[in-house]
Amino acid sequence: MDRSVDVLVVGAGTAGLVAARDLVRAGSEVLVLEARDRVGGRLLNAELPGGSPIEVGGQWIGPGQHQVLALIEELGLRTYPTYTAGRSVAELDGSRSEYTGRIPKGNPLTLLDIAQTQLRLDRLARKVVRTEPWEYERAEALDAQTFDTWLRGHARTSGGRAFFRLITEAVFATGPQDMSALWANFYIGAAGGLDALISVAGGAQQDRVVGGTQAIALAMAKELGERVLLNRPVTDIDWDDAGVRVRAGGMTVRARRAVIAVPPPLAARIRFTPGLPGDRDQLVQRMPMGRVIKLNVVYDEPFWRAEGWSGQANSDRRALGTVFDNTPFTGGPGVLVGFLEGRHADAGARLSLADRRALVLEDLAGYFGPRARQPIDYIEKDWAEEEYSRGCYGAFATPGTLTRFGPALRRPVGPLHWAGTETATRWPGYIDGAAESGHRAAEEINSARTVGT
Ligand SMILES: Cc1cc2nc3c(=O)[nH]c(=O)nc-3n(C[C@H](O)[C@H](O)[C@H](O)COP(=O)(O)OP(=O)(O)OC[C@H]3O[C@@H](n4cnc5c(N)ncnc54)[C@H](O)[C@@H]3O)c2cc1C
Repeated sequence: MDRSVDVLVVGAGTAGLVAARDLVRAGSEVLVLEARDRVGGRLLNAELPGGSPIEVGGQWIGPGQHQVLALIEELGLRTYPTYTAGRSVAELDGSRSEYTGRIPKGNPLTLLDIAQTQLRLDRLARKVVRTEPWEYERAEALDAQTFDTWLRGHARTSGGRAFFRLITEAVFATGPQDMSALWANFYIGAAGGLDALISVAGGAQQDRVVGGTQAIALAMAKELGERVLLNRPVTDIDWDDAGVRVRAGGMTVRARRAVIAVPPPLAARIRFTPGLPGDRDQLVQRMPMGRVIKLNVVYDEPFWRAEGWSGQANSDRRALGTVFDNTPFTGGPGVLVGFLEGRHADAGARLSLADRRALVLEDLAGYFGPRARQPIDYIEKDWAEEEYSRGCYGAFATPGTLTRFGPALRRPVGPLHWAGTETATRWPGYIDGAAESGHRAAEEINSARTVGT
């Protein structure tokens, strides 16, 4: 089957679908090729007993995420707040605290250390995002070290260091030793500060989407109709200044331009002819995905609420380091969502399903008592096993990557334009960043059309 269109979009995740809509609105003939048998990419709903949708991929939306908030409104979707009433649990550096509000109780020296380190981090992150991160005046020095090295140089107490390791795993799905300190600062600055990343009320975990976030992708795909083709993994892209010839299974599509809206490691699996410029290829070789197993544990009711718990818990000594109440807005069934992140996902994936489930239930019981051992359902998703994601929440840059190859992240190559949350300037790694990147890639093409190239 052969087709010819103005613009071919690779990937029907948020970024690809947003780009496709903008291009269609500007009058282009567009085709979206999606490898999977569904749209949404890292947004995916599963079904709870009783039929309510529950997210096994990306789910929260927060203030300051203007792109995704605008999209939600435009698509006629609604949000509702994450449940936060009651006591939360924090286990850090050998002690457990139960607290209400934002700040866990704890050793005053540790709390002071955390506050001072965060202040330094936020200040630095603000400077890093004033320009492109690789143009920051001390970019080389920051990019030459891992985030772990930076933290060891600034956090003075063992509790402080344990806190920053825990939140790094929760936010980036990898350890601070894996990641460039420049990337970490860019990511924090691009979200408006560390609190924005780690908070529920006022932060990235504040709200959820009625119907689950995959509804965002499904609504866009519905609008695009037959322009979205599923089960079409793109394997080859031949390109020159005149356009692209894209192969996906038995199908060949010619287009004047293409938007590649897949995560960097997945873009690296497509064969480009001629090969991409060295800078672009070196870049994607140095941006691996984080790793998460997301678990929704379902109970006949949210029993922890009745016992005065918020359902939120964090621990530096359990595999299940981060837990939230994930009960749908209908109020039932009760759902606790937990994450095995980074090294805990590596170890968890090596267990049998029965052993992993037992480990998760044991950790939940440790947080909220023995009733946590009696779920009515257990829904898990290991994103590293997904052929067309190979990890999550997003890709991150290893040391040296941004200063050597950063400009290649968004710079088009001939008729090829790059989208995907990893290419965003605000909220990279988030749904918001994906939407931003889709708009930006479409705008590159729309403005090129206007000037007649
Ligand atoms: C468990 C989990 C929890 C998360 N939590 C949150 C959260 O709470 N809030 C938040 O904002 N974000 C969260 N995220 C991140 C968020 O989901 C992503 O940033 C966002 O969905 C990325 O969108 P994207 O379009 O850039 O990429 P993707 O969604 O990955 O889309 C890429 C698409 O390209 C397709 N594809 C790949 N290769 C090919 C190929 N060769 N040919 C054709 N198609 C191809 C894929 O199948 C996919 O559909 C989470 C992600 C996960 C997995």
